[in-house]
Amino acid sequence: MQRKEAEKLEYKKQYSIKTDEAELIEVEAFIKDYRHFIDHAKTERLSTVYAEGEAIAKGFKPYTPGEPLKAGDKVCYVNREKSILLAVIGKKDLSEGCRIVASHIDNPRLDLKPQPLYENSGISYFKTHYYGGIKKYQWTAVPLELHGVVYRADGTRIDINIGSDPEDPVFYISDLMPHIGKDQMSKSASEFISGEGLNIINGSLPIDEDGGVKLRVLSILNEKYGITERDLITAELTAVPAIMSREVGFDRSMIAAFGHDDRICAYPALRALIDGDIPEHTSVVMLADKEEIGSYGVTGLGSESYSDFIESLCASVGADFLSCKRNSICLSADVGGAYDPCYADAYEATNSAYINRGVVICKYTGSRGKGGCSDASAETLAKLARIFDNAGVVWQVGEYGKVDQGGAGTVASEIAHYGIEVIDCGVPILSMHSVTELASKFDIYEMLKACEAFFKS
Ligand code: MN
Ligand code: MN
Repeated sequence: MQRKEAEKLEYKKQYSIKTDEAELIEVEAFIKDYRHFIDHAKTERLSTVYAEGEAIAKGFKPYTPGEPLKAGDKVCYVNREKSILLAVIGKKDLSEGCRIVASHIDNPRLDLKPQPLYENSGISYFKTHYYGGIKKYQWTAVPLELHGVVYRADGTRIDINIGSDPEDPVFYISDLMPHIGKDQMSKSASEFISGEGLNIINGSLPIDEDGGVKLRVLSILNEKYGITERDLITAELTAVPAIMSREVGFDRSMIAAFGHDDRICAYPALRALIDGDIPEHTSVVMLADKEEIGSYGVTGLGSESYSDFIESLCASVGADFLSCKRNSICLSADVGGAYDPCYADAYEATNSAYINRGVVICKYTGSRGKGGCSDASAETLAKLARIFDNAGVVWQVGEYGKVDQGGAGTVASEIAHYGIEVIDCGVPILSMHSVTELASKFDIYEMLKACEAFFKS
């Protein structure tokens, strides 16, 4: 065999970049919609409401478990305001399995502690307990939004969303000036800012000449929302960066935003489902909570609430649940870490995903010898690759960094626990879990194409 022929045997990564004028317009339109979503749905509660609204607008009906369903029916089911499950009943019997895309809509952030309010030296603060894997030092000196719910003692509810409107005030964690930072700068990055050091400034004016900054904050909260300090104890409030998504680069080819992980997969999954035609196999989208802390809790994918939904759909169409699970396949749609040449030491270049090279299929995640992962089989990987190839979806494979460098988990293990075949696939991103993460517009669009192709398979 001559060199020229042998070269044809080599695998070469493709670009996800589009050049066709009409397709570029489609990409930009989708990115605009996506940016609206991530800028207005920075928590799992807000994402759930947003997704439900989009689905209802496209003809989805709230699902009552057990109600009879037929091909073409579109239903959505909200799980305790923090996750949402959606389905379009396909033409084939549900015993033949469904196509599930499972993503998560929670992200690393700062939760307020149950008793958050205190004052020190004329400044009023919230104590926080961080949620998920963050580099704590990134959270100082950036504007913060506050989102969540507070229940008054009488049971009435207040929704709090402050900071996303440009006219709103924001919140802030101070950092030490470098001029007197000798001791701080000598610490390692993990100790640079401690967990107990992430205290959010929320006011500075005393209630009268005798002081009382906390009292003044309490009086404002009471006048505005009718709540007391006791009501904060039972509340659920969380702080996220008050930073809106932006185009990045002279070529405007990338989007920087808070919380790409994992809305960047959740939104394409949602849109592919709600904009799609009646599929052959029933299509399901699971937008889950609590992935960032291990998928625990009743709204995390480790909860049977999710498999119950599939079981209930089976009852609604008279299909056998065990056969359905056995014949189903799930895309665990979560972000992959893109190769970062500035931190090349952490990666293995050949088996890394790259931006602008399409969606990344991850055969396994885990850490230190694939620990804790769901290692997808050759059969599943080959099947997915064929689905993508036949639909012209640009894909690549990628691991989470070099062996023994660390690792990651997704919801794949939880899906596998239900007895459903599962494989990880998502958008490669840079600066994962940072206050702003970076992704290619074309890869985001490719994720939409990937979900569409998967639902049509
Ligand atoms: Mn994720
Ligand atoms: Mn994550």
